[in-house]
Amino acid sequence: MMVDTKLKRTKVSDIDSDLIGKHLFVQGWIRTCRSQKGVTFIELNDGSSIKNIQLISNKEIPLLTGTSISVYGLLVKSPSPKQPFEIQVDQLEVIGEADSTFPLQKKGHTLDFLREIAHLRPRTNTFGAVARVRSRMAFAVHEFFQNRNFFYVQTPVITSSDCEGAGELFELVSETKNFFGKRAFLTCSGQLNGECYATALGEIYTFGPTFRAENSHTSRHLAEFWMIEPEMAFYELKQNMELAESFVKHLVKSALDNCQDDLNFFEERYEKGLKARLEIVLKKPFERISYTDAVEILLKSGIKFEYPVEWGKDLQSEHERYIAETVVGGPVILYNYPKTLKPFYMKANADGRTVACMDVLVPKIGEIIGGSQREDDLLKLEEGIRSHGLNPSDYDWYLDLRRYGTVPHSGFGLGFERVVQFITGMENIRDIIAFPRAAGLCSF
Ligand code: ATP
Ligand code: MN
Repeated sequence: MMVDTKLKRTKVSDIDSDLIGKHLFVQGWIRTCRSQKGVTFIELNDGSSIKNIQLISNKEIPLLTGTSISVYGLLVKSPSPKQPFEIQVDQLEVIGEADSTFPLQKKGHTLDFLREIAHLRPRTNTFGAVARVRSRMAFAVHEFFQNRNFFYVQTPVITSSDCEGAGELFELVSETKNFFGKRAFLTCSGQLNGECYATALGEIYTFGPTFRAENSHTSRHLAEFWMIEPEMAFYELKQNMELAESFVKHLVKSALDNCQDDLNFFEERYEKGLKARLEIVLKKPFERISYTDAVEILLKSGIKFEYPVEWGKDLQSEHERYIAETVVGGPVILYNYPKTLKPFYMKANADGRTVACMDVLVPKIGEIIGGSQREDDLLKLEEGIRSHGLNPSDYDWYLDLRRYGTVPHSGFGLGFERVVQFITGMENIRDIIAFPRAAGLCSF
């Protein structure tokens, strides 16, 4: 039967009991269909929310999961306590059939299996929910900075400089030999470009894809991920920390306020206590602990970590998580790390051995933000570049920012997938991005 498609379509997320007694036109994909003895029950999902709408027909319409349909019918109060309302079907039209080979005919697939069908996994409850939360968080990122009059700057994906001076870059090759006249890479951070605009517009942020060829098979690393990098003129480390704390709190609050159905689903399916864990983030100020004190705490803990703790050695995820989960029980900001562990652009502290940097650590994940005050003194910055085995002449344009009207300035990078992972409670970062890229993984 044909349904008049000139009708105004109602999204399932917009159906509420106020519409009972009205005829509605809905379109979506069948999640389940039971057809017997002259009646058919269909659970329809249109992606607008985690909720399905139940359809009832007094005909036998044997359709399979995955089939797309248009439906016109009357919204009525449901006799079953399972749902508040349902649609009595007047007209139903099959748009595209799905047969028994549709891989999601059965429920209960593992996340590992679903990763192999990344083109179809958005049709599951889990990946629909992740995608909706992720979308809302992207909006909340812009909302946070735009409300503070930060300017959104789009920095390049292709770059010729290695921001960290530490490899882990993807190099570009082109059909035209030596296309750029020099070696070029996919960017691992927009920070250096961001600084050019912060030292002109005052407060800016970037939000874009970032690439790192790290061969780490962890549940927290991707080869392609999205990063948000605010950069602020006239901010010192303390103000940088305050902004980072407000930013994380804003994202968490936005999720609690706007993604209730999806968070309830994650709470039920993946992590008991998820919402309480997020509420704590809003309630408590983020504790601040210096790297030196953190090392002291770890040494005194009496715990035998896999990686030994020693002043001057980098903290591993197990150390970060111990501090966030056991010592603090919530987000914590560690600051002033040894300069030997950090990139050349971080501002030297007066003690001669640490730099004005900060990492925001959260339970379950560890680091979600890394940032610093930048070295604004020309001579010290040149010295920092040399001491990292790099050549100041390669950074001439960056040094110009210190030659002409230099100002103290600071910024940080928030890994977008890491924060969405934190907010949804999903265990693996590969389930947070639509089509994950990691060592040995580049399908679809
Ligand atoms: P880690 O020690 O966890 O590898 P990092 O010190 O290399 O992180 P930064 O260079 O400070 O990280 O990058 C800023 C933020 O970007 C990190 O705090 C993290 O949230 C995110 N991030 C870094 N590397 C990755 C990655 N490979 N995949 C996803 N997110 C990442
Ligand atoms: Mn890293």
